[in-house]
Amino acid sequence: MDSRIPGFYDEPRERRLELIEDRCDLSDEASDAIAAAAHGDTCDQLSENVVGTIAFPLSVATNFVIDGEDVLVPMAVEESSVVAAASHGAKLARQTGGFSTAVSDPHMIGQVQLRDVADPQAAVARIYEQRAAIRETANDQGVLVSHGGGCREVTARVVDTPRGEMVVVHLVVDVRDAMGANAVNTMVEAVAPQIEDLTGGEAVLRILSNHADRRVARARCTIQPETLAREDSEYTGAEVRNRIVDAWALAAGDPYRAATHNKGVLNGMDALATATMNDWRAIEAGAHAYAARDGYGPLSTYEVAEDGALSCSIAVPVQVGTVGGATRAHPTARAAMEILDVDAAGDLAGVFAAVGLAENLASMRALADEGIQAGHMRLHAKNVARDAGADDDLVEEVAARMVAEDDVRAGRARELVAELGEETDRGGEADRGGH
Ligand code: NAD
Repeated sequence: MDSRIPGFYDEPRERRLELIEDRCDLSDEASDAIAAAAHGDTCDQLSENVVGTIAFPLSVATNFVIDGEDVLVPMAVEESSVVAAASHGAKLARQTGGFSTAVSDPHMIGQVQLRDVADPQAAVARIYEQRAAIRETANDQGVLVSHGGGCREVTARVVDTPRGEMVVVHLVVDVRDAMGANAVNTMVEAVAPQIEDLTGGEAVLRILSNHADRRVARARCTIQPETLAREDSEYTGAEVRNRIVDAWALAAGDPYRAATHNKGVLNGMDALATATMNDWRAIEAGAHAYAARDGYGPLSTYEVAEDGALSCSIAVPVQVGTVGGATRAHPTARAAMEILDVDAAGDLAGVFAAVGLAENLASMRALADEGIQAGHMRLHAKNVARDAGADDDLVEEVAARMVAEDDVRAGRARELVAELGEETDRGGEADRGGH
């Protein structure tokens, strides 16, 4: 197979698919799956070399109360139990009023890297002297200012790198309701020549930083210990609370645990980002950079309050927009925004933080009590059944049988598919015989 296809991107989408079918000798099933492109024309505009679309389950997480308002949260994710966990976490928090949020100004940072600066420390001083002029150049670009945003601050510092000292200038930009990458990139490219003149250096990178530590969303909630008690648990509510705090403490002390702890947070945030077509790679990069700012640690915190309640909180950079990017271009993302009923990026960021915390809280509760596999495998059973060859008629039954038997395994699924499939075939023959 030759992966070189000259002019591929110039071909219409249908022709691109034919070319791929041909090169990859695709099965009819695979071709049909790709050709059944939902919103294919829109998606063709969003990316390059598009041949189809891939549909994620679009779910709605329930039970959220955020800053006193009920919110339904659209989530697009392929992993079972993510949506159930978010709804469960929100239900726990709901009993004590839900989540309170606080979101910083939407400040993103753009970087200009300068090499070959003879006097780096003095160059930094010259940048500070001229910061008003640099800010003006940035704001002359005609992006953001008319929406109440724009470059707010200019900072500079010397960074020691494997290739020697470099001067790095930051533009701190208020991006209002945008995610802001394109807007910030336009600004840093515009100010680079001015900064080269001031420093005598050569600009190399002129690009947004995803370490968005100036754009942080916070959420918190309180859970009474009795809310954590389950009838068939071996632990009391207070014990589960203490086990959650101990589990969190491990994440605070051990990056091996912190990575998974934060993956749990991002399970929820990425699913909301996908549903609203926000850039989840930016969210991921920002979250992990923030988590690593003082040595890698957890994004959320669990403490015992004076009255014995579990105090749950999170602080995480949320670089998302309600305008720009793909958020308004894709019809399903627009529908997701309609479900959320949120206009300002700051409000959306608060929802992201609450969803991250709810997601994390539910998995912490399960981990500290019965473990996550019981619930996860119950929800995962249909995937196991399908993987084992169960068709649409059999999936539900095979999954239900495995759950009832408490034996959700590929091997058991294959046995059940064979067994139940045979019964169905016999039933079909009997039916046919009857007519
Ligand atoms: P954009 O350029 O599409 O939209 C921003 C524009 O929207 C602004 O320039 C402004 O003119 C306009 N606008 C209208 N109403 C506004 C309001 N109320 N507030 C703010 N702006 C308003 O998008 P963007 O947000 O600048 O960039 C986001 C896109 O950039 C995403 O698709 C992302 O994937 C991509 N991107 C990301 C990175 C990165 O994260 N490192 C790098 C490059 C590109």
